[in-house]
Amino acid sequence: MDEDELSLWKKAGSISARARDLGASMIEEGVTYDEVATTVEDFIRDQGAEVAFPANIALNDVAAHYTPRPGDRDRFNYGDLVKIDVGAHIDGRIGDTALTVEVGSNTYGELIKAAKRSLESAIEVIRGGISLSTIGSIVERTMNEMGFKPIVNLTGHSIERFNLHAGLSVPNYDDRSRDYIPPDTIVAVEPFATTGVGEVKSWKRSNIFRYVRPRGHLKEDQKEVLEVLKRESRHLPFSERWLSRYIENPEKALRGLVRAGSVYSYPILRETSGGMVAQWEHTLYVTERGCRVLTY
Ligand code: MN
Ligand code: MN
Repeated sequence: MDEDELSLWKKAGSISARARDLGASMIEEGVTYDEVATTVEDFIRDQGAEVAFPANIALNDVAAHYTPRPGDRDRFNYGDLVKIDVGAHIDGRIGDTALTVEVGSNTYGELIKAAKRSLESAIEVIRGGISLSTIGSIVERTMNEMGFKPIVNLTGHSIERFNLHAGLSVPNYDDRSRDYIPPDTIVAVEPFATTGVGEVKSWKRSNIFRYVRPRGHLKEDQKEVLEVLKRESRHLPFSERWLSRYIENPEKALRGLVRAGSVYSYPILRETSGGMVAQWEHTLYVTERGCRVLTY
């Protein structure tokens, strides 16, 4: 990748990091999820980037894929364990980063540290040519030493332009894979540590969506929504908050499109045994000799 191209990835990473920290700083008892998500996404646009995916706010045993609906009144409570996962993009160059905070209490400090430390351990060794299972085993060992388990069916991923999950999966345990990370690759590494059995399952539909294709007999308002999605979302995940920037009250049409299979709704992912979950994530540029963290 040449310097000009890399500098755009760096810029997207840096905006994502600042958006993440801004969101995290707002998470307090009584604040609504919607205020945090909206502020984070507005910040990304103010910085001259686009929102790569809806700000994910996942509580307690929910690991991922929750974002508030517009005007959602749910508020953070004392003791909540909150993952905030955000992404900005600059013409498709995506930054993806997450961290975990606790609301007021200090019950899960060690769990949070396990997620953070295992990511740091991975960053220390990662370089072009390293096997994916080596990364996974370092994450797993770091968590086990602290008394927690990694979530085995959630992974990091390579990123390409306009492609958030570009084909390479970075495991959070030793999956025995012989595949390796080629140099000159952008990857997001995202360990999830849990007090539970170490697995997530799909729960109900979330408010995070993705364009699929026109299917079935569509009404006029549904066609209009699909047109906007095809033109504007660039196949990246979106929310109702985002869609309502283009279309007034998109809710009904959106539900219809999900039912018809024209729009996919990501399921909310919960820890199978109800264990608490902490996550930490950075986007890295992997070189021959090491890596550069783009989302510090
Ligand atoms: Mn993420
Ligand atoms: Mn990710």
